[in-house]
Amino acid sequence: MATILDGKALAAKVKEQVKQEAEGMARKPGLAVIIVGNNPASRVYVNSKRKDCEECGFLSEEYALPEETTQQELITLIQELNGRADIDGILCQLPLPDGIDEEAVLMAISPEKDVDGFHPMNMGALLVGKDGFLPCTPYGIMEILAEYNIDPKGKRCVVIGRSNIVGKPMALLLLQKHGTVTICHSRTQDLGEVCRTADILVAAVGKVNVVTADMVKPGAVVIDVAMNRNEAGKLCGDVDYPAVEKVASAITPVPGGVGPMTRAMLMKNTLLAAQKHQG
Ligand code: NAP
Repeated sequence: MATILDGKALAAKVKEQVKQEAEGMARKPGLAVIIVGNNPASRVYVNSKRKDCEECGFLSEEYALPEETTQQELITLIQELNGRADIDGILCQLPLPDGIDEEAVLMAISPEKDVDGFHPMNMGALLVGKDGFLPCTPYGIMEILAEYNIDPKGKRCVVIGRSNIVGKPMALLLLQKHGTVTICHSRTQDLGEVCRTADILVAAVGKVNVVTADMVKPGAVVIDVAMNRNEAGKLCGDVDYPAVEKVASAITPVPGGVGPMTRAMLMKNTLLAAQKHQG
């Protein structure tokens, strides 16, 4: 049986450390979260971010804007928040309603307050190995690996998914830790064959059971990023968990794996932003 990589427990530990560091600061770290429209999943995420801020003793401000908000109105709000001394991090919950250019909005957030790590300046910093905010999901996964003494150095790592927020930064972070990294996507041929080479397999697709037990090398570490709903409406990942658990040496559950760590790393990034702003 595989070791369960308990992201929920680690997230609680990270948030406790963040809270303690925040308590010692002259001013509370401040996070502004913007939500546009009525996407129910976005509402759940924003509520959980507010709860995390409360737990960590942060100042938390929420801006719930109507569906018909224009791109310019949104950018004007971001510019105001960029100028606020008590706000260290700004997050605009994605997806945005049709008609708003996500890239333009993300570009408007000051790179120094971009605690999601989505601004091209922070993405570029990651590419060239300079300091910047790391995107929370891959950052959280690296923390899980470190907590369980799983060192990517010299290992074959396969990342399924090439999005800007998960797949690509994940591959870069594994590469930074000296993994030998392959990225797969929807046009990859013989996905199973590539996956079977992996010592560390990260699935970030968003399709139920895209990773089956025959695609996993015995003893591999399997990280399941996805948040899907199965036919019964239950939250699940990309990995056929009951079967893969028997083959892998370690595996993240869904829920309770990567998700809680993504939230915890947002708190960590906000703390880091506040520390930088306060010198
Ligand atoms: P995304 O932008 O939709 O990217 C999905 C990736 O999967 C794409 O690169 C796509 O390839 C690839 N793909 C699709 N079908 C495939 C197939 N059959 N075989 C191989 N690759 C395939 O999604 P994302 O934003 O990266 O998120 C991925 C999943 O993680 C989603 O379930 C999302 O909800 C979840 N997520 C979870 C967290 C968390 O905190 N746990 C955070 C973020 C995201 P192409 O590029 O060729 O289209």
